[in-house]
Amino acid sequence: MMPETDRRIRGIGPAGRKDSMITAIVGANWGDEGKGKITDMFACEADIVIRFQGGANAGHTIINPYGKFALHQLPSGVFNKNTVNIIGNGVALNIPSLVREIGQITQNGVPAPRLMVSDRTQIVMPYHILLDQYEEDRLSERQFGSTRSGIAPFYSDKYAKIGFQVCELFDEKALWEKLHAVCEYKNALIVHLYHKPALDPDALLEELAGYRESIRPYVADVRTFLRDAVREDRQILLEGQLGALRDPDFGIYPFTTSSSPLAGYGCVGAGLPPYRIGRIVAVTKAYSSAVGAGAFTSEIFGPDAEQLRRLGGDAGEFGATTGRPRRMGWFDCVATRYGCEVQGATEAVLTAIDVLGYLDRIPVCTGYEIDGTRTDTFPVTGLLNRAKPVLEWLPGWKTDLRGMTRWEDLPAEAKAYVAFIEQRIGVPIRMVSTGPRREEIIYR
Ligand code: GDP
Repeated sequence: MMPETDRRIRGIGPAGRKDSMITAIVGANWGDEGKGKITDMFACEADIVIRFQGGANAGHTIINPYGKFALHQLPSGVFNKNTVNIIGNGVALNIPSLVREIGQITQNGVPAPRLMVSDRTQIVMPYHILLDQYEEDRLSERQFGSTRSGIAPFYSDKYAKIGFQVCELFDEKALWEKLHAVCEYKNALIVHLYHKPALDPDALLEELAGYRESIRPYVADVRTFLRDAVREDRQILLEGQLGALRDPDFGIYPFTTSSSPLAGYGCVGAGLPPYRIGRIVAVTKAYSSAVGAGAFTSEIFGPDAEQLRRLGGDAGEFGATTGRPRRMGWFDCVATRYGCEVQGATEAVLTAIDVLGYLDRIPVCTGYEIDGTRTDTFPVTGLLNRAKPVLEWLPGWKTDLRGMTRWEDLPAEAKAYVAFIEQRIGVPIRMVSTGPRREEIIYR
């Protein structure tokens, strides 16, 4: 009988049925792991690529024959003319920003994408963005480091049941009534807490009429479309945003995002049967970086951080959405193993190994020391705030690995680095990325 792990890798479920056609590409860390590049690679083979959570608050950097792009809301399948790209119901849809993004790619020669937006997707309202800004300003020193794109107020309203689904744009009378009710409530906060001008529901209604016309060509009953696609065994890719450590439940709460970036949420945020997600690819970088506030145990500072930041990514480690310099750190085995576990990863991809070629010895965080006790279990936020990194040093390879495509060609030290991490994170590393371009990849 085939061992269970082999069955999983080959995509054969317990009943011997082929059931791995849904693949999720997700982040094992704080985001910025290089998911964009990996999703773009996988997307070449996919019939359907779906965004299932998050919004315009983060970006995926993609470099392909059309050029370099930072996609914020568009799924990474937009570069393939045969791929259907879906914005799922779990996404925070910023309509003006989506329209701008479509314009940016088509102006660069990419054919108009095949795009579907779920009629159940909720809309980021202009006041969500205002409220995000007002609140971060009010918090001042205590702010969360939000990208100020309205994401937290958006999801708060969604779960408070005062959000607006795309389908509501098409019933103007009901929309007008709901807008008046919501504005009354919002204005209490805006005027009395933030001392800002009140919202005018009639002006908002007009703005939403513009939203309706721009989104109209894409709105569809995505749930039914995906039901049929699953029945037809079409190749479906779920594209996660940010990473496991930003999950509102399992991440570094409250320094998390407001929707779940976990593969499991893909079922809810897109409308798919959970048992059909057979392959969960967790992307992790050969070193760490993070944007925004919150504990970051393996963080480094000063010249070491500056050097890694300058050499990292494809042109330095700066946020794809905000341009903010990313906080830098060494690879964190504790956080990454945890990230892979909560993602339910069946495999991992290690990106940006080419960046580390300048180091004589490479520090790796293999444990945390909390109040004098060593642990390799990722703790809750209160304890994490007190964690100090336990580092081990691995020999560097002092070679430029950029663009390598064959495992055999890697220096022994680089192979040992990958094997060390693989052993610590407990998930097979099936791919090693040696540069930002599609073809700069090693399959193992
Ligand atoms: P994402 O949000 O997970 O897609 O990550 P980002 O795209 O925001 O950040 C990853 C950065 O690393 C981008 O600048 C990518 O072009 C770049 N990148 C991805 N893979 C590699 C790699 O293997 N090597 C190098 N040097 N850069 C990479």
